Amino acid sequence: MVMGASGSKLEKALGDQFPEGERYFGLENFGNTCYCNSVLQALYFCTPFREQLLEYYMNNKNPGDAEENLLTCLADLFMQVSQSKKKTGVIAPKRFVQRVKKQNELFRSYMHQDAHEFLNFLLNELVDILEKESSAAKDSPQSSSPEKVPNGAVQPLANGVKKEPPVTLVHKNFQGILTNETKCLRCETVTARDETFFDLSVDIEQNSSITSCLKNFSSTETLNAEDKFFCDKCCSLQEAQKRMKIKKAPHILVIHLKRFKYIEQLGRYKKLSYRVVFPMELKISSTSDDVDTEYSLFAVVVHVGSGPNHGHYVSLVKSHNHWLFFDDENVEMVEESTLQTFFGSSHEYSGNTDHGKLLISEIVSMNLRKAGFFVVLVYSGKWNLAPVMMK
Ligand SMILES: [Zn+2]
Repeated sequence: MVMGASGSKLEKALGDQFPEGERYFGLENFGNTCYCNSVLQALYFCTPFREQLLEYYMNNKNPGDAEENLLTCLADLFMQVSQSKKKTGVIAPKRFVQRVKKQNELFRSYMHQDAHEFLNFLLNELVDILEKESSAAKDSPQSSSPEKVPNGAVQPLANGVKKEPPVTLVHKNFQGILTNETKCLRCETVTARDETFFDLSVDIEQNSSITSCLKNFSSTETLNAEDKFFCDKCCSLQEAQKRMKIKKAPHILVIHLKRFKYIEQLGRYKKLSYRVVFPMELKISSTSDDVDTEYSLFAVVVHVGSGPNHGHYVSLVKSHNHWLFFDDENVEMVEESTLQTFFGSSHEYSGNTDHGKLLISEIVSMNLRKAGFFVVLVYSGKWNLAPVMMK
């Protein structure tokens, strides 16, 4: 590893366009920790999240309190990067990675890990920590909670009324609401159930686009045969129609493409290299807002390699109108058009031997730019158009 070599190259490439106050650091890999590094870069360049996390950490850091958790490890790491004297370089996220492994045995092995699973785990852990800290602060009479529910939406607590969970910075940035609607085909009663999400996991099809994947995601599905729905009104299992609608779009939209599919005949997961086109700008309509929420793409987490159990994760991140390519220690500037090479492959191995050859030749000529397909896309809302703060 040539420390700093890619860094100085990057500084040269950006020249006097190097953004004021911004830092571009590669992250050292501790043996199969690229899933973690790629997600960390995407989160770091999610600037509202980064700023809110650092602000929270500065305001709530208790010097006497040495207890470390995933939040303090993440904030320390972000701080180390953002306050570095040097503009570029390599940082070892050792404490953070050790903490992740301590916390979750799933990430302890040297086996290949899933970046989407990791992002999910991390966001939920942060929520747990923030909620605990917030309720501890409420319980102590002298301090008031730093995180208040906006717009006074919650009534003062009456005795016996269940407390509303606090709105953490993770919720503010990533949480959206889905409505799950089920219509009984006998009595036509519609049952609606809301559920919150931090990301949308969508199924993919060959030669499709994010827009069509999202359309399929909220298309109507019929529940019949063994999959009937228990209708409370009919008091029996009935055929029903089900659909998901986005009720409230999040500020930061994370879309996860299900590229790893369990193939029963094979008895294992297989990577789907399908070509799925993603736009730089995306509009999402939600049922509770009159206007569409407009998003721009700022981070892509890419899985490179042919299968779910081996391969490598890298990320592409947009910062101050430049796209940067992060591959563990290395950081490079790339053209926006490079992103198109991550759409996927339009000649997917389909189980038929003729196409098998294509797959093999693809693996042989595998290079980062051609064989990697994104698994997580992160869009940020255009702040001025963004819906009012989520409850
Ligand atoms: Zn019914």
